[in-house]
Amino acid sequence: MHRLAHLDRKFVWHPFTQMRDWLKSEPIVIVEGRGPVLRDLRGREYLDANSSIWTNLHGHNHPRINAAIGRQLKRIAHSSALGLANEPASLLAQRLVSLANPQLAGMKRGRGGRNSPGTATLSHFLSDLPASKSLRPLTKVFFSDDGSTSIEVALKLAYEYTRRTRGPKPKPVFLSLAGAYHGDTVGAVSLGHIDLFHRAYAGLTFKTERVMSPYCYRCPFNRAMPERMDARVYRKCNWECVGEVEKKFCAQTKRGRPVAALVVEPLIQGAAGMIPQPPGWLLQVAAIARKNDALLIADEVMTGFGRTGRLSTLNSQLSTPLFACHHESVQPDLLCLAKGMTGGYLPMAATLTTQRIFDAFLGEHHELKTFFHGHSYTGNQLGASAALASLDLLQSAASFRARSRMEQTLADELKVLRTLPAVGDIRQVGLIAGIELVRNWRTRERFGLGERVGARVCEAMARRGVLTRPIGDVIVIMPPFCTTPAQIRRIVTALAEAVEEKAGSVNSSSHI
Ligand code: PMP
Repeated sequence: MHRLAHLDRKFVWHPFTQMRDWLKSEPIVIVEGRGPVLRDLRGREYLDANSSIWTNLHGHNHPRINAAIGRQLKRIAHSSALGLANEPASLLAQRLVSLANPQLAGMKRGRGGRNSPGTATLSHFLSDLPASKSLRPLTKVFFSDDGSTSIEVALKLAYEYTRRTRGPKPKPVFLSLAGAYHGDTVGAVSLGHIDLFHRAYAGLTFKTERVMSPYCYRCPFNRAMPERMDARVYRKCNWECVGEVEKKFCAQTKRGRPVAALVVEPLIQGAAGMIPQPPGWLLQVAAIARKNDALLIADEVMTGFGRTGRLSTLNSQLSTPLFACHHESVQPDLLCLAKGMTGGYLPMAATLTTQRIFDAFLGEHHELKTFFHGHSYTGNQLGASAALASLDLLQSAASFRARSRMEQTLADELKVLRTLPAVGDIRQVGLIAGIELVRNWRTRERFGLGERVGARVCEAMARRGVLTRPIGDVIVIMPPFCTTPAQIRRIVTALAEAVEEKAGSVNSSSHI
């Protein structure tokens, strides 16, 4: 075993990893990356098919981001945001605010969307939405370090804002989606609903209300028979899931408990299993939150910065929203950003919020209205410089062309997987894809937890030079934007072969 692999096994404790399994084999030790390719210390190359856990946007070792960090490094790496301002953080805050507010140019409501069976219901939800409430510019940026901390900030701001504006009692509650993952700090864990992760910490967390998530493939209301396509397309529904969200709000009202916020990952839930929302869902639940005077927290830790794809109708014009919310012309009160913000280079996050929320924390020193929260590396100069360079790239015509091409290639290539009996659902939103593996696609029967089918498929993909991680039996494909069509083809081919190798045998009972 290589010396570095040995050191890792001896001293490092890996996140979300059963270390007993980890210690059974020699780890892949990455020493270099270029574009979408990672190289290990034995010289083996791998395609980074999940963008190093959804962080990398433009590829590794990008000359423009490298140069930006290098320039900043010659001046200063870090000074505290406690009592001091700095250049890149101020410029980044300005840039994020300008990108996060397309509605200032006259946002129109909703895209209605293809395949929206309950359009009558949709307009019902929107009819009594006060127009003034749909325009809430995000004017302030609170920096932190990673996705979980961006959520903690949003959580505390929403909680305290609600208490200050609606009275301290009864305690405000939060609504979040079934299966949600918003991070692993205690507040973020409380908002999440992945029992597998959270059971251990039940004694530390506070209770939040779980609302139904629009998981079309496994929707209890969907009477449509499984087909060889995305379940959002063939579903039969009357927006029962939206009705369930409204019922949750009503139940809180009956109990006299103010809802501080509804927390959503817009357009697609990530760690819940790559669960995309049918078009129109986000717009409707946002309207319900507004109607109930609750804030809307958009967790765009995964979906932000162009991941959710190319064209959308905004202000009656085709445009390329960088944030998922804006695909449905929804403006949250709190927008949480992390992962891709620095192009996948450095840990930095931001929580954007409205003037109204900011103002609720203004006061005289002795009134103690200050937002008592902040970390040592808040507003770090290297991270902010990387983020500015990443945004320049994202807003370039070349990146837009690359993203459009990759989105289309991914859609075309993924179709091949439909011939595999173990492929139950193929879900894609922009440049994010999740392939759900099942024992029998006709019944949607799952594999057993102990079979580790998702994990074994990913191990087989790694042997073919493609790295990604599963979420249970959902295989995630979301490579950096610079991945070429030929490399996408290699990723999908490796996936197809790995599924045949690892899920084909356990799946002998089902045929197309
Ligand atoms: N929110 C979402 C939607 C995420 O996907 C994640 C991480 N997977 C987080 C929050 C937490 O981010 P981090 O791991 O950077 O703390």
